[in-house]
Amino acid sequence: MIYCVEDERNIRELVIYTLNGGGFEAKGFENGAAMEEALAEEMPELILLDIMLPGENGMDILKKLKSSERTRDIPVIMVTAKGSEYDKVIGLDCGADDYIVKPFGMMEFLARVRAVLRRGSRNQRSDVLIFRDLSMEVERHQVTAGEEKVNLTLKEFELLRTLMENQGIVMTRDRLLGQVWGYDFDGETRTVDVHVRTLRQKLGECGNYIETVRGVGYKIGG
Ligand code: CA
Repeated sequence: MIYCVEDERNIRELVIYTLNGGGFEAKGFENGAAMEEALAEEMPELILLDIMLPGENGMDILKKLKSSERTRDIPVIMVTAKGSEYDKVIGLDCGADDYIVKPFGMMEFLARVRAVLRRGSRNQRSDVLIFRDLSMEVERHQVTAGEEKVNLTLKEFELLRTLMENQGIVMTRDRLLGQVWGYDFDGETRTVDVHVRTLRQKLGECGNYIETVRGVGYKIGG
């Protein structure tokens, strides 16, 4: 079950329709209070939260969810028309698992929902990430490509981790910059290309798993 809090009826219905089409059960709510009532009855696997809502806004609802023992581990995706960096920083600080900026394509939307469900909530995200014969033990900071242990710098490691956690999803350079270098990083997207190049070299054959999507960014798998 997926809950969607969105005050605009058209968008809410479209989201529910899309989720149903993707094989998910979903319920829509106009505001946080209505969702909280439902939460008392049934715990969803994922909550989609609009930011601009009448009454309690999405950020307040997110904070509430994350501060309660009972709801803390439910993954949350913020769905927002406001794509400013500011919102992203605030959201990630509060523990949102991902962002979708309106308007969004349905295929991307479903891919993100699936990715978040796969990796579970931020607190319990998998310690071992695997793609074919490439694996990462996150806590131990260890990467194995084929049979070989690979030494990566912190940024290379975080870059690979972000790609591995979002398998099948094209990660734009801006998004990678945000996730790996931080949203306040004042660098250029070329930084990403440079790190991808060294990362590929270090991974040897497994370096080919990182695909370039021309004009967009990078992805692993899918
Ligand atoms: Ca809204």
